[in-house]
Amino acid sequence: MVRVRFAPSPTGYLHVGGLRTALYNYLFAKRHGGVCILRIEDTDRTRLVEGAAEALLTTLRWAGIEFDESPEKGGDCGPYVQSERFDLYRQYAAELVERGAAYYAFDTAEELDAMRKRMQDAGVAWRYDRTTMRNQYTLGEAETKRLLAEDAPKTVRMKVPLSGEIRFDDLVRGPIEVPARDVDDQILLKSDNFPTYHLANIVDDHFMNITHVIRGEEWLPSTPKHALLYDALGWERPQFAHLPLLLNPDKTKLSKRQGDVAVEDYREKGYFHEALVNFVALLGWNPSSDREIFSMQELIDTFDLPKVNKAGAVFDVQKLDWMNSEYLRAKPLDELARDIMPAMQASGVTTTPDYLASVIGLVRERIHKLNEVPAFTTYMFHAPTEYEAEFKEKHWLPEHAAPVRSLAERLATTEWHHTPLQEVTKAFAKESGIKVGVFMNVLRLMITGRSVGAGMFETMELLGKEECLKRVETALKAFGG
Ligand code: GLU
Repeated sequence: MVRVRFAPSPTGYLHVGGLRTALYNYLFAKRHGGVCILRIEDTDRTRLVEGAAEALLTTLRWAGIEFDESPEKGGDCGPYVQSERFDLYRQYAAELVERGAAYYAFDTAEELDAMRKRMQDAGVAWRYDRTTMRNQYTLGEAETKRLLAEDAPKTVRMKVPLSGEIRFDDLVRGPIEVPARDVDDQILLKSDNFPTYHLANIVDDHFMNITHVIRGEEWLPSTPKHALLYDALGWERPQFAHLPLLLNPDKTKLSKRQGDVAVEDYREKGYFHEALVNFVALLGWNPSSDREIFSMQELIDTFDLPKVNKAGAVFDVQKLDWMNSEYLRAKPLDELARDIMPAMQASGVTTTPDYLASVIGLVRERIHKLNEVPAFTTYMFHAPTEYEAEFKEKHWLPEHAAPVRSLAERLATTEWHHTPLQEVTKAFAKESGIKVGVFMNVLRLMITGRSVGAGMFETMELLGKEECLKRVETALKAFGG
């Protein structure tokens, strides 16, 4: 049975990369009839943010990701919050020492700093030097016992082999081999007796019966350490899959400086959760078809790890906008009207769900997000009180007044539907020797006050005859016609 987990640290928001990791875990579990677990990794107490775990869950739920086992739901392998599992980590730190796979180290901060400096001066990369520092190996068993007995400050460090290769398989990247000498004697238990990520992570993955560890590529360098820890404890390793990095358009690592990285930001900006999920799903995974629009169920039916790419994936907001507009075009109008009604009311508009639905139907080809509707459509609810100056300057001439008035009279006797309205306007333009474009622009200016909007005749049809003719009249007066 497939069992996967999403294991965020509650730092205050959900990174879009985190959403992708959560999503791939969820899709993989659902695809294989497995279980998807949420585990909160809050061992780093200095980075803790109040209420962050709850906020994470709200955001993931908004995205449509539900967990089978979680702090909220419970399950057979709980608790699902690491700070409630400290005893277990301490127990296995001791077990690793017992098995000779880890050791006690008693170095002070000053001693570690001095070592760091020595290495810097020698121009070598930082790596804990087991042979020169104050630890179980250099001090010997008797001294170690004595220090333990007097409760001297200590850490537990992993005993990484000094030579040879560490091997593991990655479902995305294939077989991986790392020289052991490049791997640090990682601290497992800190001097405050708190576990580090590495220890807590493998203990939990083991006791939560995780079969596949699916996580971001930034965790790849940790995996050799994890592989050694599983082996040392005689535990079966899970399978690993590391997901490609998310990149800015300039191919640097996705950063806040170049745009939003929090899922909450995209939610606030008015993107549909379906669009964001669809977009994020395609960052680093290729369904090998030319389709790009997938519902959650379709993603579940199609997703698989072997099709995840190795190369980094560019986070292209324009593509997200495009995808969001696809959803905007496809969603039922009554649903869209219901969703945006509160914002309409807040902007001072009183309207009916039916009329609002028609207005959205009219403009949705021209916007990317539903929350653009209130500002984009004010003229569908109120007559313009001002006219875009530049547009007027460009398209209005006093000699237009008489023909526009005649056209309005002609339209007043036309069936109020966009096709006849258009035909009559065209015919009138021909008769009067004025380009039809002139009339279109002037009508738009007079009826909407703006230079951009939906199709003019469709707009007029929806606004209704009386309202349109009134607006033309008002504008003629305002323009001195
Ligand atoms: N707590 C880690 C994170 O914040 C989890 C990494 C993993 O999945 O092993 O992403």
